[in-house]
Amino acid sequence: MADSSLQILNSVFGYAGFRGDQQAIIERVSSGSDALVLMPTGGGKSLCYQIPALIRPGTAIVVSPLIALMQDQVEALHQLGVEAAFLNSSLDVGAQREVEQRLRAGDLKLLYVAPERLLTGRFLDLLEQVEVSLFAIDEAHCVSQWGHDFRPEYRQLTILHERFSQVPRIALTATADEPTRREIIERLGLESARSFVASFDRPNIRYSVVEKDNPRRQLKDFLARHRDEAGIVYCLSRNKVDATAAALVDDGFLALPYHAGMSAESRAANQQRFLREDAIIMVATIAFGMGIDKPDVRFVAHLDLPKSLEGYYQETGRAGRDGLTSEAWMTYGLADVVTLSQFISKSDAGEERKRVERNKLNALIGFAESTGCRRRQLLSYFGESPAGDCGNCDNCMDPPQTWDATQAAQKALSCVYRTGQRFGVKHLIDVLRGIDGEKVAKFDHDRLSTFGIGAEFDDRQWSAIFRQLVAMGLLAPDDEGYGTLRLVDASRAVLRGETEVRMRHVADKLERKAKTKSVRSERKTQTLEIAPHESRLWESLRNTRARLAKDQGVPAYRIFTDATLLQMLREHPQSLSELATISGVGEMKLARYGEAFLGVLTAF
Ligand code: ADP
Ligand code: ZN
Repeated sequence: MADSSLQILNSVFGYAGFRGDQQAIIERVSSGSDALVLMPTGGGKSLCYQIPALIRPGTAIVVSPLIALMQDQVEALHQLGVEAAFLNSSLDVGAQREVEQRLRAGDLKLLYVAPERLLTGRFLDLLEQVEVSLFAIDEAHCVSQWGHDFRPEYRQLTILHERFSQVPRIALTATADEPTRREIIERLGLESARSFVASFDRPNIRYSVVEKDNPRRQLKDFLARHRDEAGIVYCLSRNKVDATAAALVDDGFLALPYHAGMSAESRAANQQRFLREDAIIMVATIAFGMGIDKPDVRFVAHLDLPKSLEGYYQETGRAGRDGLTSEAWMTYGLADVVTLSQFISKSDAGEERKRVERNKLNALIGFAESTGCRRRQLLSYFGESPAGDCGNCDNCMDPPQTWDATQAAQKALSCVYRTGQRFGVKHLIDVLRGIDGEKVAKFDHDRLSTFGIGAEFDDRQWSAIFRQLVAMGLLAPDDEGYGTLRLVDASRAVLRGETEVRMRHVADKLERKAKTKSVRSERKTQTLEIAPHESRLWESLRNTRARLAKDQGVPAYRIFTDATLLQMLREHPQSLSELATISGVGEMKLARYGEAFLGVLTAF
């Protein structure tokens, strides 16, 4: 068995070895037992049921919640020469009949179906007449009522076990938390399944959080480091999506908007372009993402704070499925914290729910303000205990300096108190810096003892101080959402001098950038940095790929991923048998595309 699964991995998929638990999972399912697989996005879940489907006699039935995902997977399998099809509402009656015919005839190794289709009496009867090799339940977290992807039909899938008790089942998800996992086991009757829980680390993603200063300019500086690469920019509101996309287009970037306020057609058209073309920047609300299987998303940028760390991890996880170096980048400022706490206070959820939401927001702020390794903090939040710091996040690469901010905190808190706890940061800073504005005059705040006691810091420094005071729970934004700040119990100890307050320095940006660069070249993960002397060959390889993709109307990555192309560039194979050793070049792709790429490789 071990031999045949490895052999299929080599010949069909063109990969040299298994990752993590893949082999153990494949062996278990191939031998007829159940499995539950929890792996992060890009971890390699599909192979875990595709290889058993090729090993076992009969047809594997794959339950999948999204039409786009099914089409994508079937397209990928066709490229590998595997007989696969899907059944869903996108097919007309004639095409559906044809697929059913092929199923009856035993021509299919894999059939992807939507759950509502699978559960019809007619389809279940049909399944009883054919040989089913296994059931794979993809995106298994859809059984969970608490998740945002809840699909009621998923709960009826226990019928598979009742009617086909001899057929092994494998359930797969990228949702990590324990309650969801328990719910999957219970709802799908998977008590006898062995659980395989992979680490949720995504080592090729670099995390960084920058203090929000001039977000649009900061975004452009960030994008300048990602020329000709595909990525996603998340914003909180539809208006901001539209405005940001338009501003980027004005500056010569290839950016498209995506949000729920657009017509279904223009959304679908933009999504299609993002998937098919090489280097589109999608500016989107979180309506964009589910079912985006594009492997070469090089960055995910957040212009606003996401709703929770779970959301952040899921959104950033869309970067770097292909394993190449990718970036998760976020701007963060006090206004974000205020907006989100406002959302929570104003929602009509019950108190219990609000408390949960506040805790989630606090975890997120803790992450954004953290001075330690970001990856460690993320993974511990998800219940893992990483052995050390990652070396691939902003804080690891350029450890932030902290300073004793006790006195500054006292000045700030006392200014909040003296002004009556009913002003926002802007005014508070004016008072501290002794700036004689209209508002200061109106309220006679130039007569306060705190007027002008903070002239040693500028606006930006004070706003960083206030932000950190809120993040540390030493100041609270009002519930009504006016952006005013008030004292809390913990403020008192600071004012009395009983607690020391340490804060991070506002980094000197130029210095930070320079440092980032030097560390970058030391990283082990493969980077898509093309040296000048390689660029002509690289362009030719990419053009060849684009041409082949266009002929068939499939996305470029469907032919070969960037990772495969990069290995061709570096190893420069000169014969078909050398080309076959490149990861991602299986027998079928070698036969179909080998000559075309070899033509390019031998010309250089
Ligand atoms: P998931 O469904 O877990 O998000 P995929 O199954 O789409 O991940 O796999 C992510 C990428 O990794 C795909 O391009 C896949 O072909 C590749 N991959 C999976 N397993 C291996 C392996 N053992 N060796 C090399 N590449 C792999
Ligand atoms: Zn780190």
